[in-house]
Amino acid sequence: MDTKIIKMDEENIDTEAIDEAGRIIRAGGLVAFPTETVYGLGGDALNADSSGKIYAAKGRPSDNPLIVHIAGMEDLAGIVRKIPEEAYLLAERYWPGPLTMIFEKADCVPTATTGGLDTVAVRMPSNKIARALIQSAGGYIAAPSANLSGRPSPTVAKYVIEDLDGRVEMIIDGGEADIGLESTIIDLTGDKPVILRPGYITEEMLEETVGGVDVDRTILEGNSKQAPKAPGMKYRHYAPKGNLTIIEGQADQVVNYINEHAYAFKKEGNKTGVIATDETAGRYQADSIKSVGKREDENQIARQLFRILREFDDEGVQIIYAESFDGKGVGQAIMNRLLKAAGHQVIKL
Ligand code: AMP
Ligand code: MG
Repeated sequence: MDTKIIKMDEENIDTEAIDEAGRIIRAGGLVAFPTETVYGLGGDALNADSSGKIYAAKGRPSDNPLIVHIAGMEDLAGIVRKIPEEAYLLAERYWPGPLTMIFEKADCVPTATTGGLDTVAVRMPSNKIARALIQSAGGYIAAPSANLSGRPSPTVAKYVIEDLDGRVEMIIDGGEADIGLESTIIDLTGDKPVILRPGYITEEMLEETVGGVDVDRTILEGNSKQAPKAPGMKYRHYAPKGNLTIIEGQADQVVNYINEHAYAFKKEGNKTGVIATDETAGRYQADSIKSVGKREDENQIARQLFRILREFDDEGVQIIYAESFDGKGVGQAIMNRLLKAAGHQVIKL
């Protein structure tokens, strides 16, 4: 398949190209597009064949449900059985934005979209290209992240093209994603809201709006025997091709440990890399040292993490060490993604 690649400025939407993209989706085809979290791979959420094509294009296991994207609150009622009070409160505060809510699904949503579940995940993105595309496509776009299954989610179009060129009808290049991590997922189908995946909207922010929320315990634990409630969270994910290990400890010890081990691996002929912070980057010795930003600037770390994992792949780095991050606030989402990328290999000093 020939993939049409179109560049677009969020502040100057090319309505002709959006019309074309909308037609592709309404006809059952696929379009990758920018959102404020990461790039999405979109198809018609109400068409089971389209969802099937999304799974095939990504090589995604079919029990891993897709998130349905809407552009207006009035469209929510069309795909869910009921809207709990908390959903109105959360939507008022955080939609459009990086929050996904789980509802009981209406009959019109095919189980091909929901991975066989009778619930549906819904998000209203704020990116203007995404919103225009959803409207043009008829209101409901199913879109997982626009990467091959298992790879780091793309935050720039270059990596969407690398993974999906030839597998989708169109890719819209809208520049770099503002947030860089996937949405926070909250389940509203039980007695109490439960966070299934941490993200930019933190536990504290959600509690401010709806009172008590629980956190799915499997999120930060590697060896939990319980399956995560968001089916996708059980898969190895976000992984670079190199072997990634997280080193936890006091800064001096971490620097010494990494330098010592990177040196040993280098001597054996491996290309080595370090995920550092601005505070420590100058102290490492390895083939490729990348800073994710200042330690206290969690938003910048979130924005850069996936791109940096991809860059190590571009450079053919085989052994990667990462510093550890504080598991509070947005740090909870950063650590969750990093732990999955590392297949939960952590060394505590
Ligand atoms: P992605 O769009 O690639 O970030 O993946 C979507 C995530 O949402 C996966 O982790 C899914 O398991 C999760 N998800 C989607 N729908 C549901 C649902 N109905 N119940 C629980 N988790 C869901
Ligand atoms: Mg994904």
